[in-house]
Amino acid sequence: MKNIAVIGAGTMGNGIAHTFAQKGYKVNLIDISQASLDRGLDTVAKNLDRMVAKEKITEAGKAETLQNISTFTDMKAGVEKADLVVEAATENLDLKLKIFRSLEEFCPAETILASNTSSISITQIAAVTSRPEMVIGMHFMNPVPIMKLVEIIKGYSTSDKTYKTVEELSKKLDKVPVEVNDYPGFVANRILMPMINEAIETLYNGVAGVKEIDTVMMLGMAHPMGPLALADFIGLDVCLSILNVMYDGFKNPKYAPCPLLVNMVMAGKKGAKSGKGFYDYSENRKAEVVAKMFI
Ligand code: NAD
Repeated sequence: MKNIAVIGAGTMGNGIAHTFAQKGYKVNLIDISQASLDRGLDTVAKNLDRMVAKEKITEAGKAETLQNISTFTDMKAGVEKADLVVEAATENLDLKLKIFRSLEEFCPAETILASNTSSISITQIAAVTSRPEMVIGMHFMNPVPIMKLVEIIKGYSTSDKTYKTVEELSKKLDKVPVEVNDYPGFVANRILMPMINEAIETLYNGVAGVKEIDTVMMLGMAHPMGPLALADFIGLDVCLSILNVMYDGFKNPKYAPCPLLVNMVMAGKKGAKSGKGFYDYSENRKAEVVAKMFI
């Protein structure tokens, strides 16, 4: 594995590109517009600057990492020599199916096709290709360069060979891979989202206020962030959509999103990214929430 293509230069895609490039892999970063690619590269450069300031890497290391990343708006040109493609485009089923149909056409037969999806079935994505045994989930966590976990999702048809290759590659990135089968929410969101939803129910039922709920979970359970702050950080729309995927997938009312969450998303209160969620986000507050993630 030498050549990696990453599709999508957003929050996750630029972090995934950064992580591979820092370990010496050649990365082709692909997005639909040059502006998105420039924003993605700018984020990588800023994150590398922080690592230099903390003496985790040198200036030369930063330069090498950036040199390892090339950008493309033409998907075919970006993926045609890839050993592995990691798709990290917008979370939308039709879009992902379209991308994987194109990858099937543009990539060599031996290319492994991975998706970073949080909630879409790997089995369903794999089924639109003629190589479902080579399609797999590589679910990185945000922020990718910092978080150790990669959930590796085996679709119904994913081969052991593909799994082993991706497992070894993840270890080479200094990540800790965990093997997970393909069911809604995988493991991380299957456990996290009901906790977040229950925190919102607790607020909705008037048991306690926002700060009180987060304080209980931070100081009582040693969580680095409270569940409501974490929901704001992830995006309330994203939480709602993952809960809906689990609710639809399992047909079990325990995953039904709290009506307060539904209302907040309909009102446009999506958390840190929209300026308001359970907390109010002036630039400073947003920085404060994000900083807590890294302490
Ligand atoms: P994002 O909105 O920040 O970035 C998505 C990027 O994909 C955008 O830059 C967009 O322009 C690009 N894109 C859209 N269509 C494209 C196409 N046809 N070709 C190439 N690029 C295209 O989204 P994100 O938060 O980075 O999420 C990406 C994926 O990662 C999703 O599947 C999401 O479920 C998953 N994920 C997100 C998180 C998280 O915390 N944000 C965590 C784990 C997994």
